[in-house]
Amino acid sequence: MLEYQAAKDLLINKTILVTGAGDGIGRAAAICFAKHGATVILLGKTVKKLEAVYDVIEQAGCPKPAIVPLDLKGATEQNYIDMAETIEQQFGHLDGLLHNASMLGVLGPFKHISMDSVTEVMQVNVIAEIMLTKALLPVMKKSPQASLVFTSSSVGRKAKAFWGEYAISKFATEGMMQAIADEYEGSNLRANSINPGATRTAMRANAYPAENQQMLKTPEEIMATYLYLMGNDSVEINGQQLNAQ
Ligand code: NDP
Repeated sequence: MLEYQAAKDLLINKTILVTGAGDGIGRAAAICFAKHGATVILLGKTVKKLEAVYDVIEQAGCPKPAIVPLDLKGATEQNYIDMAETIEQQFGHLDGLLHNASMLGVLGPFKHISMDSVTEVMQVNVIAEIMLTKALLPVMKKSPQASLVFTSSSVGRKAKAFWGEYAISKFATEGMMQAIADEYEGSNLRANSINPGATRTAMRANAYPAENQQMLKTPEEIMATYLYLMGNDSVEINGQQLNAQ
């Protein structure tokens, strides 16, 4: 997918929400979408990081973004419903939702999984995604062409030893994507997932501390697949598991 060349104005008139927009892949995606014409809604935990992304987008002369500070760990269903109402009032419809924010949790033997840790991972990586998607589906249905993009991982497709907590959450994410894609098949809403592949971010450095990060692709270098799925070139694509690398 890296060879896909997006038109400069691919995302003009689209409003796209990106979770975890303050850092790593989410930050790069938000800036990239804005540079292709989208109005981006930056959702994340650390307000300072979101403000820094806001400034980059504004200084580049892109459409004015919006900031939604929200910790996916503690947010309630009502928080998501209120947010969806605000988005509908402000923008009328939502054309794209990139579920990108995730936590890695603890890597280690299955028999040592801590229930506190796995519960937190499932809350942020899965339950929050369910609540956010549920709340936003009505406003996405108001878009002429809406795209829902989930972020998976290689271990969301084939799990491996010591990656239990995170892999289980990514399999759940793939399942959510498939259920929604099937339910909305033939409508104005499509759902797909992306496995970013090894990418130079804080999460990757945490998972592989001994690795030479300079050998990895940067978030900016893997944006072709994200652009493809968010833009109308992919309107026929639904229920697919794509790889960004
Ligand atoms: P980073 O850890 O670099 O960034 C994660 C982002 O998610 C941050 O902006 C972080 O906000 C936000 N976030 C984390 N927890 C919460 C929370 N509770 N509430 C709100 N926001 C939160 O990760 P990557 O950019 O590497 O990963 C992006 C996605 O790609 C993830 O879904 C990850 O699983 C997936 N992925 C990444 C790979 C890689 O090699 N990097 C490989 C395969 C999949 P803050 O900075 O404020 O904490």
